[in-house]
Amino acid sequence: MQVRQLFDQETFTFTYLVIDEPTREAIIIDPVREQIERDVKLIGELDLKLKYALETHVHADHVTSAAELAERTGALTAASRLGAACALRHLGEGELIRFGQSALRVLETPGHTPDSLSFTGGGHVFTGDALLIRGTGRTDFQNGDANALYASITGKLFTLPAPTLVWPGHDYRGHTVSTIGEELRHNPRLAGKSRLEFGVIMSRLELAPPKRIQIAVPANLSCGREAGVPAQG
Ligand code: FE
Repeated sequence: MQVRQLFDQETFTFTYLVIDEPTREAIIIDPVREQIERDVKLIGELDLKLKYALETHVHADHVTSAAELAERTGALTAASRLGAACALRHLGEGELIRFGQSALRVLETPGHTPDSLSFTGGGHVFTGDALLIRGTGRTDFQNGDANALYASITGKLFTLPAPTLVWPGHDYRGHTVSTIGEELRHNPRLAGKSRLEFGVIMSRLELAPPKRIQIAVPANLSCGREAGVPAQG
């Protein structure tokens, strides 16, 4: 299983191409609308057969290219059973996403949003906005829940083997990859922190709302097909 990490510099979003090398079958995780030409070109250059366009959750900060990418490559869209209803495959805990001889297993990791998923296999975990490098996703909108996020990270993600490579949905400080063991020891919101302490940290972040939330959420609920209508004012 080969991982290609791609970055959208406008929204600090990572997109991942995960490749089954013997068969060239691949999946893409969290593709960004503005980057579709880059991604289609790379898929062609690497001679990949794209099987799935996966979403880790309904994003508030960027619009997905999933629907258009699926049309152009023959892939299927897939998202949480609690997420975008437009997806052709709805995923739940423990399901396998197969491509070639490889597979990723679905972990339901709610907290940032109720529909947040992580995908794990082959010594990798794609954590979306649940676990970030030395941070976590925020829990102050889209029905976020700090208690649920703490349970998802400590009860599921931190039980993966320590060397598992952590590939997050965003990074704002220039990191690209971490490991479960590293985050267990050094994540300042989680290392040695109780659920209550985590809740206090999350309630004091005072982050500005994402600039595109009024456009991105409705657009992502339709797999990126429509731009959505921005709120007035
Ligand atoms: Fe998010």
